[in-house]
Amino acid sequence: MRKLSWKLGGALLLLVVISVGLMAYLTNISTAREFRQYVSTGNTIYTQNLAARVAQFYIQQRNWTGIQDVLNLMRFGNERLIVADSSGTIVGDTAQEWLGKSAQAVKLESGTPIAASGQQVGTLYVFSSGSGLGMGGMMSGMMGGRGQQPLLGLGQQDFLNRVNHLLWVAGLIAAGVALIIGMLLTRQVTRPVRELTRGARQIAQGDLSYRVKVKSRDELGELGQSFNSMASRLDQNEQSRRRLVADIVHELRTPLTVIEGTVDAIIDGVFPSDRDHLLSIKEQTVLLTRIIGDLRDLSLAESGQLKLELSPTDMVELVRRKLFQYEPKAREKNITLNLNAPQPVPAANVDTTRMEQVITNLLSNAIRHTPSGGTITASVSAVSNGSEHHVVRPSVVVSVADTGEGIASEHLPHIFDRFYRVQDARSRGDGGVGLGLAIVKQMVTAHGGQVWVKSEPGKGSAFYFAIPSLSG
Ligand code: ADP
Repeated sequence: MRKLSWKLGGALLLLVVISVGLMAYLTNISTAREFRQYVSTGNTIYTQNLAARVAQFYIQQRNWTGIQDVLNLMRFGNERLIVADSSGTIVGDTAQEWLGKSAQAVKLESGTPIAASGQQVGTLYVFSSGSGLGMGGMMSGMMGGRGQQPLLGLGQQDFLNRVNHLLWVAGLIAAGVALIIGMLLTRQVTRPVRELTRGARQIAQGDLSYRVKVKSRDELGELGQSFNSMASRLDQNEQSRRRLVADIVHELRTPLTVIEGTVDAIIDGVFPSDRDHLLSIKEQTVLLTRIIGDLRDLSLAESGQLKLELSPTDMVELVRRKLFQYEPKAREKNITLNLNAPQPVPAANVDTTRMEQVITNLLSNAIRHTPSGGTITASVSAVSNGSEHHVVRPSVVVSVADTGEGIASEHLPHIFDRFYRVQDARSRGDGGVGLGLAIVKQMVTAHGGQVWVKSEPGKGSAFYFAIPSLSG
């Protein structure tokens, strides 16, 4: 469970240690180099200055007698000054150790030449207060020699050490601060991840009402929002599945109850077993068969398994045929049926049986909801891209408009839903269970088309559907 935070924390620690260590190491090296350079330049100037003063003495004196006293006066602190004459014999040594010895013999090198009247009259060697100089060449003194890497005096070495020490301390503090900030950031990442994991578990266990609380405005926040909308969607789907099952049970139970009641009454001798009562039972079985057939079509269409036998079809002809079939029913209700197809329309690739089912559902609805004396007009027209509704391809648009009761605007968004009826239980007398328009929508969608409706209560309704035409 804590693996991610360990991984992130470990990676961060490694990064901080490597980068801070590298930074401190490189800064150390470059500081030491710059400092030595600085000391070297200072030393050269200093020893040349001393050499000039010793030369001054020689010019006045013409020999090296008394140089020892002068060196003692010139000496600064624990500094050791040595002067060798032009032959290399040491004539002055503030430590009085090598007087009379050859500079070569005591391994003195890289001294500063002492020049008088253009001639080298001796050599000056300067050693700082370092730890015991000279012997065996383990000098820590500063050499005035040109181009020689100077060894640092104790004070200078100490300064460098302190700088280095401070650098390491600063590096460690930076690493500590980086680690603390890193840990806080890691927690910010892992907390929402843990919350999302908990959410996924709850959903998996069936608690579809669970929502994660991820508030950050970054990608994790977005993930949290997507998770919550996925959970809402699952919740809605689950609810609609339950509603669907309840609706199906309800719709099937009604005709079954009627059949059972009628049969019981006949058995008990309450009803005679005559033709009328058998017809009433037959009516209910027809209704049951229709509901089951509709449900099967719907579920096939919704799962994309509806097999369409497509063929180029003249939609005007198809609509005309359907109107002709409904003529007797319309006349019975004193309703006028019209066909409005002023222009020839391009053929559409449709499954004629399914298209007839669509037009049948629309026409039977229109006849059912239009009072006597009303008019139903079926129109067929060709539309090009975007000229109507959201039709994106050249299509054939069919509409069935009536002068009936109309539909209140609050029902319009749901009118194509399964089992949705405007007034509950009422149209049952006519056999409507709220599946007709859902089938219309699924069939048209299966043909790559779309449906829409316009309606005004008291004035009438117009249902439209568009099917891509072959000219497109
Ligand atoms: P049903 O089979 O119950 O008619 P539909 O899905 O065909 O179910 O229709 C859903 C609802 O839409 C119906 O309850 C009906 O009230 C309303 N409706 C459908 N067509 C029309 C229409 N032409 N005029 C008024 N209302 C309609």
